[in-house]
Amino acid sequence: MATHQPRHASVVPAERFAVLDPATGETFGEAPDQQPEELDAVVGRAHEAWINWRADPGARTTALLEAADAVEAAGADIAPLLTREQGKPLAESYEEIARTAARLRYFAGPAPQPQPITDGRPVRSEIRWRPLGPVAAIIPWNFPLQLASAKFAPALAAGNTMVLKPSPFTPLATRLLGSVVATALPEDVLTIVTGHEPLGARLASHPGIRHVTFTGSIPTGRAVAQGAAASLARVTLELGGNDAAILLEDVEVERIADRLFWAAFRNCGQVCMAVKRVYAPARLYSHVVEALAQRAKTAVVGAGLDPGTQLGPVNNAPQLARVESYTAQAVADGARAVAGGRRLDRPGYFFAPTILADVPADSPVVTEEQFGPVLPVLPYRSVDEAVEAANDTGFGLGGSVWGTDLDRAEEVADRLECGTAWINHHAELSLAQPFAGSKESGVGVAGGPWGLYGNLRPFVVHRPQEA
Ligand code: NAD
Repeated sequence: MATHQPRHASVVPAERFAVLDPATGETFGEAPDQQPEELDAVVGRAHEAWINWRADPGARTTALLEAADAVEAAGADIAPLLTREQGKPLAESYEEIARTAARLRYFAGPAPQPQPITDGRPVRSEIRWRPLGPVAAIIPWNFPLQLASAKFAPALAAGNTMVLKPSPFTPLATRLLGSVVATALPEDVLTIVTGHEPLGARLASHPGIRHVTFTGSIPTGRAVAQGAAASLARVTLELGGNDAAILLEDVEVERIADRLFWAAFRNCGQVCMAVKRVYAPARLYSHVVEALAQRAKTAVVGAGLDPGTQLGPVNNAPQLARVESYTAQAVADGARAVAGGRRLDRPGYFFAPTILADVPADSPVVTEEQFGPVLPVLPYRSVDEAVEAANDTGFGLGGSVWGTDLDRAEEVADRLECGTAWINHHAELSLAQPFAGSKESGVGVAGGPWGLYGNLRPFVVHRPQEA
């Protein structure tokens, strides 16, 4: 049974910062406000820990499996903390914990074996996959645990060590998760650092870091890549999305409406690959708008800890301001808020689930990433027009096509310029599949074996067949 104490005393913070509960807008906890100057020592220790950690794949497998058990055993402590600081319904916090344990088990599998290169030449050459060194991970506030584990599970399995920085909006559950996982690891293999900028910027550009894996917005991703260029560390970027869902003429609206609604509103719309724009055939337009609006009006909005809550608050005040301003701009541009359209009159960062109809295609709620509980629905006249609109963006994370004729839907999905295209659902990912945004939505590949190899480098040994 895991105790929740790290095996080592982490860096003792000089100061702490407040953590707010988005369901009340009030402070409920605090976290260490670590300073960039502390990173030299932290990264130095991660490098020392790497020397042993990289040497024994069997020990890594055992440790990751033990860590998975420890995470599950600590679920009842971690889940409410995550809900308090992030806002999501408690059941969804437990889903993050389950996914974290599953990911640790998935990557605990056997290490990549040496691969011979057979090209007909009289040499025996072989690829031996080597870890990179200390990896820096920087993550956002929407799925703190899932995204932390998406970083540390493959990186540690590959034989790297990691310094991970969560968002200052959600530091607490990640710190607790880190200390739980650390009970199964040697000292300094995984270190969580918390604090405000320029902590992340300094971590991304630290000369002791060999891989920077970042999840967050496109502008910050750009800054992180520039920072990592200083030491030419490898960069993996998982960035924002503006996924379109295209409904085809043969879609059965009532049959898919629930799934489509939750593909847009789960986690209060704060999902990189949520449905962020819906394109409906003109003939079905009012039906689609009404079906979604009816679900928006009846979704149970409340604090994540309240039983029955389906949709929590927006995570933080700047994000709420963004959601409000995109909605107000859309209405000023001529859109109709068929459901919602405003903040809820209660403490905390609650915004009514909003369906926008008749939105001009160039309104920011369509062209930018709203990342909140607001969904624009746009009519189209031809499928070509819908595909063109879906692709007419710098984003390229995901997309989906909805209809009864699956072959036809797949044909249309194949034309989407994105990393993952779904048919009749959206944002479902297997641990075994690659996850990679196209265009400005990402650089590098996470997930499955690709995620593991993203944390390894090929080391090739050539030798002649004879002396
Ligand atoms: P953000 O870019 O503001 O912050 C992400 C992280 O970077 C935070 O930890 C933040 O403290 C840190 N940071 C801020 N400035 C930095 C700098 N100059 N250098 C280094 N680190 C810095 O993003 P956010 O608002 O926390 O999260 C929302 C965004 O994340 C959305 O755009 C969303 O689409 C994206 N996201 C993408 C994925 C994906 O897998 N593609 C998953 C989840 C979220």
